[in-house]
Amino acid sequence: MNLDQLPENPYLLLTPGPLSTTRSVKAVMLRDWCTWDEEYNVIVQTIRAELVALAGESADYTSVLMQGSGTFSVEATLGSVVPEDGKILIIANGHYGDRMALITHVLRIPTILLDFGEVGRPVPESVESVLESHPDVTHMAMVHCETTTGMLNPVEDVGRLARSHGKTFIVDAMSSFGGIPMDISSMGADFLISSANKCIQGVPGFGFVIARRAALEACEGRARSLSLDLFQQWREMEAKGGKWRFTSPTHVVRAFAQALRELDEEGGVEARHARYQANQRTLVAGMEGLGFHCLLPEVCRSPIITAFLLASQPGLSFKTLYTSLKSRGFVIYPGKMTTADTFRIGNIGDVYPEDMQKLVKAVEHAMGRK
Ligand SMILES: *Cc1c(COP(=O)(O)O)cnc(C)c1O
Repeated sequence: MNLDQLPENPYLLLTPGPLSTTRSVKAVMLRDWCTWDEEYNVIVQTIRAELVALAGESADYTSVLMQGSGTFSVEATLGSVVPEDGKILIIANGHYGDRMALITHVLRIPTILLDFGEVGRPVPESVESVLESHPDVTHMAMVHCETTTGMLNPVEDVGRLARSHGKTFIVDAMSSFGGIPMDISSMGADFLISSANKCIQGVPGFGFVIARRAALEACEGRARSLSLDLFQQWREMEAKGGKWRFTSPTHVVRAFAQALRELDEEGGVEARHARYQANQRTLVAGMEGLGFHCLLPEVCRSPIITAFLLASQPGLSFKTLYTSLKSRGFVIYPGKMTTADTFRIGNIGDVYPEDMQKLVKAVEHAMGRK
């Protein structure tokens, strides 16, 4: 391999993580790091502080990083936060809400699953009536942007309910944190979970949890797993200045630090959000022009990922579309719904409205129109 001529990516990933990253994010991985050396641990501490700042900069909050994909951080949180005599209400409307219920099932955590269906938007009044009829609920959990459909859920309304009923609130903001402005305290979240390879535009390898310090401090001894013990992981990072308990994904962490710098250079979360929105507007206008229909009405859509109905194009299969687009430089995402035939196009990553215009041309070609 000629290292002076590292290849360009053969295609853009229009998938909601892993996603297309910049060459500069990839380039900083070309060096090895010692996990206990101060130089590396300073990077970790800086990342932890910047994550709290991105969530609204409040002294009441802290953050902890966890090895693995995003699901590992969700599992670490659910398994470390709910005490043995606790009970969790999970509000779901798609695959990732269901996954939280799968995790609590495996961990044998008493759970109430309130399922609004894949295209249903959670209704705060229904949540409240479940809370009133089940006073033994101690915790609540919900997904912010349900990546199954791209739906943006009313976390602030549900957070208010959690507050007024005295419940601990866990938010899976995996696919939205860094791409949609949010303030953890006005969300009413005690724990907010995301990962390296979504809107911060890093590479996959770890997740992170931004937590209300007092809520996390109460979690000692609750974990149902050794390696996924959120409290112990946090305590080690606090006590040893950024050291992880077990081998950390050093290259990924370094890439994430660079990705955070690039988020700042872009103008922060507001500017990134505006770019993702512009991507989505360009995409939706182009696809609708070709006769495609979005799964969700505009009011429910997030600028993260857009689901289109395949049925709006009789005769076009996902496989044909996928293969044709890939040969023209775009990788898209299959649908994940059980009730409708969809495909999804991510708007996030190092991707711009011009890319969306080119994508729409490629879709037109795949349909045999050009
Ligand atoms: C990506 C994602 C996850 C985590 O998925 P992993 O494959 O484990 O990284 C969890 N929740 C949501 C909403 C997501 O978009």
